[in-house]
Amino acid sequence: MSDQHVYRADLRIDVDAIRHNVGVLAGRARASGAATMVVVKSDGYGHGAPEVARAALSAGAERLGVAAVEEALQLREAGITAPVLCWLFAESDEFVPAIRADVELSASSQATLARIVDAAAKLGRTATVHLKADTGLSRSGCPAELWPALVEAAAKAEAEGWIRVEAVWSHLACADELGHPSIDQQAERFARAYEQARAAGLDPIRHLANSAATLTRPDLHFDLVRPGIAVYGLDPVPQAGDHGLVPAMTFRSSVALTKRVEAGESVSYGHTWTAGQPTNLALVPVGYADGVPRSLSGRMQVWLAGKRRPVVGRVCMDQLVVDTGQDAVAEGSEVVLFGPGDLGEPTAAEWAEQLGTIHYEIVTGMYRPRVTRTV
Ligand code: PLP
Repeated sequence: MSDQHVYRADLRIDVDAIRHNVGVLAGRARASGAATMVVVKSDGYGHGAPEVARAALSAGAERLGVAAVEEALQLREAGITAPVLCWLFAESDEFVPAIRADVELSASSQATLARIVDAAAKLGRTATVHLKADTGLSRSGCPAELWPALVEAAAKAEAEGWIRVEAVWSHLACADELGHPSIDQQAERFARAYEQARAAGLDPIRHLANSAATLTRPDLHFDLVRPGIAVYGLDPVPQAGDHGLVPAMTFRSSVALTKRVEAGESVSYGHTWTAGQPTNLALVPVGYADGVPRSLSGRMQVWLAGKRRPVVGRVCMDQLVVDTGQDAVAEGSEVVLFGPGDLGEPTAAEWAEQLGTIHYEIVTGMYRPRVTRTV
């Protein structure tokens, strides 16, 4: 993890790790006869969507999934031709460009289905649709009482040639809580939704499993799994054992300035930390504007010159200060704020635990205007 180049604030994305993780997930899927749709929404969970997509497709994934139409079009603009499903729409979203770009669209309601049919008719093309059932997450997805009417409408539109119903799908609420009763309840409701689609004359594939279910519930793989977080090497179910995932994001900076202070000297705004003995300080030019949470002040460590060292005093907008004790580190030395953890450096999961959140939120929020990303 050392590098001659001196970074201000850089996210290094390890595409080999992405390929490895997709290999693990696609291998699990294949073992139960399922294909793999890698979720690259929110700019590939902050890792760079086109780069992640290419790595995933080269490692055995067949499809990609995103939330927003713009995200799907960005993949097409990057020259990616694999099937892309897009599932969350605003009233202002245009379906014509999406269908023209062969983006597959989710429909959770008859209103959305009608918009898709309109756009397909305008283009004179058949749109590919995944019908989404709400099986208990109570977010997007069609509620059970409206589902029979949705599948009837979809069957009619399919017969007219405006759509092809590729899949019936849903999303789990508590897949990361092993044995949570809602998982089986959602699976039962999903089975009913599928049967109703078949009874309406449709012949769709099925997909339900996120990363956690891909890793722990092979019985719910169906035809296709949809992992996101595990692709990036962050395990949503570490309690189910070591899945051999490798975190792909490392956040690093470098020492901008060093100084020695005497005992009794205080550091950073508010003077919340005071040196108990003469010590060496290293200034690192990253702060809360670069994604280092100010609330980690006084309780975070970084990896610097071969060991973990404490950040002392408050994290500022643009800088933080590390106590290197009796070690005088060189200016320009690499500082790892979080990484895969193999050297002993902090990890995104550790930050999340300290902050009372999930690692998803850490990695998706890291790429910012002043932060570079090396993929
Ligand atoms: N499917 C849908 C509809 C999602 O919204 C997400 C992400 O939240 C995923 C799959 C992937 O979930 P995870 O990142 O937990 O694997």
